[in-house]
Amino acid sequence: QDDIFKNVISHAKEYGYIFPSSEIYDGLSAVYDYAQNGVELKKNIRDYWWKSMVQMHENIVGIDAAIFMHPTTWKASGHVDAFNDPLIDNKDSKKRYRADVLIEDYAEKLNQKAQKEIEKAKARFGDAFDEAQFVTTNERVKGYLDQKTVILQRMAKGLDAGDLADVKALIEELEIACPESGSKNWTEVRQFNLMFGTKLGASADTAMDLYLRPETAQGIFVNFLNVQKTGRMKIPFGIAQTGKAFRNEIVARQFIFRMREFEQMEMQFFVKPGEEMKWYEYWKTTRLAWHKSLGLGAENYRFHDHEKLAHYANAAADIEFNFPFGFKELEGIHSRTDFDLKAHEQYSGKKLQYFDTEENKNYVPYVVETSVGLDRMFLAVFSKSLQEETLEDGSTRTVLRLPSVLAPTKAAVLPLVKKDGLPEVAREIVEDLKWDFNVAYDEKDAVGRRYRRQDALGTPFCITVDHQTLEDKTVTIRHRDTMEQQRVAISELRGIINNEVSM
Ligand code: ATP
Repeated sequence: QDDIFKNVISHAKEYGYIFPSSEIYDGLSAVYDYAQNGVELKKNIRDYWWKSMVQMHENIVGIDAAIFMHPTTWKASGHVDAFNDPLIDNKDSKKRYRADVLIEDYAEKLNQKAQKEIEKAKARFGDAFDEAQFVTTNERVKGYLDQKTVILQRMAKGLDAGDLADVKALIEELEIACPESGSKNWTEVRQFNLMFGTKLGASADTAMDLYLRPETAQGIFVNFLNVQKTGRMKIPFGIAQTGKAFRNEIVARQFIFRMREFEQMEMQFFVKPGEEMKWYEYWKTTRLAWHKSLGLGAENYRFHDHEKLAHYANAAADIEFNFPFGFKELEGIHSRTDFDLKAHEQYSGKKLQYFDTEENKNYVPYVVETSVGLDRMFLAVFSKSLQEETLEDGSTRTVLRLPSVLAPTKAAVLPLVKKDGLPEVAREIVEDLKWDFNVAYDEKDAVGRRYRRQDALGTPFCITVDHQTLEDKTVTIRHRDTMEQQRVAISELRGIINNEVSM
């Protein structure tokens, strides 16, 4: 698994998808730049989301709020007081951890132990293995899973009650129980606020303390009434937004999975109080279907319903994805109640209510939120698409099977040789297709090597111009995934490509 992940990171760099930020200065921890192909893939993911959420829903509109917001916003939202993560340092290894993530990692280890027991039993008893029949296996599996539940419950209880000493004690017990590590020398657990502060204004005495927004959601809440009134929106309706968010993550690792500067795609759906559970279920189903529509494999998604709820929520679930390092959160769906709008009413002194003409009364709407990280989507798509294939002749090829609608370049046009007028015809095809698609032109190296390069870049089609083209205006079109080649008229190209890549 580690190797697969390393491969993903190096492929992303080698093929111009993602570079470490400020690399000539040895990079900046957990900050990355999207390169020439990465920026296209990222834009296509964003567009795919935007189209399905905004364009396809008559009752959802978009906004683009500023990153800077009035500082009281973050008092009202609870971020100043409560947007903390528990931090712990290991004095021996000098490593810093997020205490809850550390504990979850132990719990995941127990989960893996349970799975191993099941695998072992299956190997012994074959496919006919029925978990219920084999008492000893069962007991062991149950033992691990029970232990896991107890650990997570105890952590949640400690964090909820602010009992950080108990969280520390739990980590110490787990370290002793876990033979791999054995280190016992921990600092106290303390809370660490994740917001980045900055200053607005030039002179020291008039400067105002600001935060870089840690989520895009609040820009939607403070604009709720503006949008509702000017858009004449009727409940239920949604406001969507994509944009940067910033969190001073304690441990930012796993490449673009957890960054300090990242992009979110969020939609807040305003509903009548009492109807939030119906819409919460609706958005859970709808968002899972959206993910599955990309064709990365339904088995790579699962729901994780939260037992421990944030201060603003009355129900919450994650859509988890099977990343190269296991199942982790990709998107959150939260029933946020009227917490945010009410808090902004209180802090601003302005009414944020909706007049319901059917009920003939004012109320503060309830909110159901869908929130997905664009960078995490990128990692999900990229890591699942990257495949090594052994071909019939025993050779291998690297192919990036990106969903065609998301691929940065839709087609590469290749003259078979660099003479006889073939480059000119290939250029003409590029000139024509570029009005509708990102297309590339490549004449360097043997055509077989150019195919391999486009496979690794994720380009769904290669169009080859050869001598026959000069006679009958046909070309070959090669499909990335099957490597099949078809002879088609140049005039058919647009239709064929469009058929596969349009959103
Ligand atoms: P986690 O538990 O992984 O820290 P979270 O529950 O704090 O995430 P939310 O506040 O629900 O995350 O944010 C919504 C989405 O934003 C997440 O599902 C994730 O896709 C994305 N996201 C959150 N933090 C980061 C980050 N540091 N880097 C990249 N994406 C992030």
